Amino acid sequence: MSESSTAIMENQRTLAASTDRFDERAGAGLATRLILVGLVVFLIVGSILFVRVMLHRGPDTIESPSSAPIPARYDADRAMGYLQKLCDFGPRPSGSEAMVRQQRYLESFFLERGAEVRRQEFETRNPNDGSAMTMTNLIASWHPERPLRFLFCAHYDTRPYPDRDRQNRKGTFIGANDGASGTAGLMELSNQLDDLPDDVGIDLVMFDGEEFIWQEDRDRYFLGSTYFAQTYVDTPPENAYRAGVLFDMIGDRELRLYYEMNSIRYAKPVAQSFWQVAKRLRVDAFVPRTRHDLRDDHLPLNQIAKIPTIDVIDFDYPRPGIGSPSYWHTEQDIPKNCSGESIAAVVWVAHQWITAQGRSEQSRSIKTPNR
Ligand SMILES: [Zn+2]
Repeated sequence: MSESSTAIMENQRTLAASTDRFDERAGAGLATRLILVGLVVFLIVGSILFVRVMLHRGPDTIESPSSAPIPARYDADRAMGYLQKLCDFGPRPSGSEAMVRQQRYLESFFLERGAEVRRQEFETRNPNDGSAMTMTNLIASWHPERPLRFLFCAHYDTRPYPDRDRQNRKGTFIGANDGASGTAGLMELSNQLDDLPDDVGIDLVMFDGEEFIWQEDRDRYFLGSTYFAQTYVDTPPENAYRAGVLFDMIGDRELRLYYEMNSIRYAKPVAQSFWQVAKRLRVDAFVPRTRHDLRDDHLPLNQIAKIPTIDVIDFDYPRPGIGSPSYWHTEQDIPKNCSGESIAAVVWVAHQWITAQGRSEQSRSIKTPNR
C-alpha cells in the first residue's frame, strides 16, 4: 500500500514537471493542462479507493457475533461439537452411506431429547443414471397438538462435489457451513425446548436433496423441501404452521446475517420480528438491511405450502469484498472456518423469538424482560 502511494507521488511530480516544460516550449493551451490535472486526480482518487477496498477485505481478528455475552445455556462448544460430529461422517450427499449413518445418529439424538421423530421418505431418480433412489426428510416434533406451531428447518445433505473450487472441482466437499451448521443449529435449539410457552409446538425438520447437484444446468434443487411442502398441502395438519425459519450457513466465523430478499418478499413480519429480537439481545451479527436474493429451501415452503418462512443465512463466506476468498462450494468449507459462537448466537435469538410467540396467560407470564 505504501509502495503504491509513493509511486503515485512520483507520478505527480513527473507529470507536473513535464507539464511545466510543455508550457514553456510550446505554450500549450489550457485543455492539455486540464487533461493532465484530471489524470493526476484520477490516479489519486483511484489509489485511495484501492486502499479502501483492500482495507475492507475484512478483519484479521474475528469479531464476536454479539456485543452482549451469549448466555451459557446456548453452548458454543457443544454446538461446534455437533458440527464437527456431522462433518466426521464425511461427505453426506443424498443416498450416500454417510448420509444413512447421519440419519441414524440424528434420529436417536432427537429422540433422546424428547421429540417424536419420524422419517418422511420419498422416491426420486438419480439424475446421473435415472436409477430409483429414496430420499428422507427427518422430522422431530415437540408438542404437535398445540395450537401455535412453528417450523425450524435446515438441509442436511451436502453437495456431491466442491464445484466452485478452482483447484479441485472434483475434490472432497465436507459442507461444514453449507450442510452441517444449520443442522447443528437445530440440534443446539433442541436443548432449549423444555420451557416453551404452553401453547407453542415446534417441528425441527431436516431436508434431504437440497443440492443433489451433479450438473448445475440439469439437476433440480430443493427436492426434500418441495416434497415436504407438497405433502403439507395434500394432507394439511390440524394446526397450520404460523411461521418457518430456515437455518443455512450460520456457522461462518465472521457472521453477518442480512435480510434475504425472498424472505422479505414472502415473510417480512417474521423477518422483522426475528431481527428485532436480535437487536434487543445485542446480537450485532444480525444486520437489518437487505442483501442477496437467494433461492433456498424457503422457496417451496413459501410458494407451495404458503408457510411464511425466512432464510437465516450468511451468504458471504467468509466475508464480502473484492479480493476476499470464497469458501462456498469449495474444499475450504470445513470446521476450521466455522465457529460454535456463531451457531450459539443464532440459537439464542431463535429461542428468544419462539419464547415471545406464545399468547396464553401462562406463556405471557413467562415473557419477562431479558429472558
Ligand atoms: Zn450449497
